[in-house]
Parts: sequence; structure tokens; C-alpha cells
Amino acid sequence: MQQERCMLQRHAEPGICIRCRTSAPGGIMKKYVCPLCGYIYDPGEGDPDEGIEPGTPFAELPDAWCCPICGAAKDEFFAQE
Ligand SMILES: [Zn+2]
Repeated sequence: MQQERCMLQRHAEPGICIRCRTSAPGGIMKKYVCPLCGYIYDPGEGDPDEGIEPGTPFAELPDAWCCPICGAAKDEFFAQE
């Protein structure tokens, strides 16, 4: 079975790339949901409007980051299962 290449091609080897970890079981790259408006932060997409690069885990967002739709604070978000 052929291994897939890293989707963002940031790393030569599959499995170490942050995007690859997104889909890995138990990966740190969960999506987070805004409880107020339903906006979903997808680490694979980041938040380009706020200068957040694709591949940024929710945990690594700046504390000042907030929901781009409704302005909810970062710590109001919950992990999507
Ligand atoms: Zn929101």
C-alpha cells in the first residue's frame, strides 16, 4: 500500500506533518466549535483573515484570538468530537 504524501507538502515524510496528525486517531488537530454561532475552527485551514496559517492547532492560537464571526473568546470554544 502506497503511503499518501503530506497534503501540505511541508514535510517529506508522512506521519510527522501537522496536517497528517490532524486525521490521525488521537491527533491534536481537532476542530473547535464556537458555542455561540457554530463557527468551526479547522486547524487544517487556519484563519487566514487573522493571519493564522493552515496547520495551526487550536491550542497554538494566540490568546487574543476570537471567533471571526461573533467575537466569542477562544476559551469559549469546545472540541468537536
Ligand atoms: Zn462565534
